[in-house]
Amino acid sequence: TAGRREGVPVRCFDAALAQRSARQLLLHGQLRHALQRGEVTVHYQPQVDCSSGRVVALEALVRWQHPHLGLLLPGAFLDVAERSSLITPLTETVIGLVAADVAGWCAAGRDLVVAVNLSARVLDAHLLDVLEGHLARHGVPARALELEVTETAALADERTSSALLRELRRRGHPVAIDDFGTGHAGLTYLRTVPASTLKIDRAFITGLDADPRKQAVAHQVSALAHRLGMDVVAEGVETARDWAAVRAAGCDRAQGYWLGRPVPAADLPTVLAAAEARTRTHTPAG
Ligand code: C2E
Ligand code: MG
Ligand code: MG
Ligand code: MG
Repeated sequence: TAGRREGVPVRCFDAALAQRSARQLLLHGQLRHALQRGEVTVHYQPQVDCSSGRVVALEALVRWQHPHLGLLLPGAFLDVAERSSLITPLTETVIGLVAADVAGWCAAGRDLVVAVNLSARVLDAHLLDVLEGHLARHGVPARALELEVTETAALADERTSSALLRELRRRGHPVAIDDFGTGHAGLTYLRTVPASTLKIDRAFITGLDADPRKQAVAHQVSALAHRLGMDVVAEGVETARDWAAVRAAGCDRAQGYWLGRPVPAADLPTVLAAAEARTRTHTPAG
């Protein structure tokens, strides 16, 4: 009605939006070359085993070392990649870098599972070929490469994605549902999703010790995930108290700034040692 329409603000020109689009347009133009020039890299964040306190896995997080803008986080360019076909070569770049790094660590005697994030758009048969090619080239077993898909991505086209996730599992890859709790996944989804790992979103983890309702959710979600045969990862462990609380809630692995920030591969020895020193200090013996 006319009355309703009056309530809608007239937007002639949204400067912030226009600026954002201009920047995105610019980045889109540069991303293809950035991929070719090797400006797209990955940082790694440790995941700690809640009972041993040892680093058992890493999450690979894409970064763009931009020649003028500095180090860009995915929030600045992932949208651009996802809305164009560049998400496919970007994902391939990440998988190639990770496979090479995993092979190096394996040769050095450190067995680490590395998790790679996947957008809904790349969940197709081509991805299977890409994974197989890179793993074979570097002699890395499928079980060393975990794949993370958000609840929202997995739900977007549920039948296609669950067939693909099932095939990844069949090939030996661990599969994680990322940011669990932020989307609209229901219990049917949880019962049928072919995942081996559930990552509880940091909205339920950060500040866990001070919030009985978050504790109730974290505790029950991990109990349910365990009964469904999944491992549980807590994201967003930012304090020693979060670390104690996620262990009390029954999570298997923990990840967050308190345990270690994402860093380039070269800095991992320092970050891993620091994470393990922390968990040693803050875990009661026995
Ligand atoms: P995500 O997969 O949920 O990754 C965790 C994000 O939370 C990372 O942000 C990480 O730096 C941040 N984080 C880790 N610990 C903490 C903490 O204790 N507190 C807080 N506040 N944040 C923490 P980042 O690196 O900016 O990545 C953002 C998102 O971009 C990722 O969220 C993932 O969805 C996406 N992404 C990252 N790399 C890739 C990639 O290679 N491919 C695709 N398709 N998506 C990616
Ligand atoms: Mg993730
Ligand atoms: Mg996440
Ligand atoms: Mg997240």
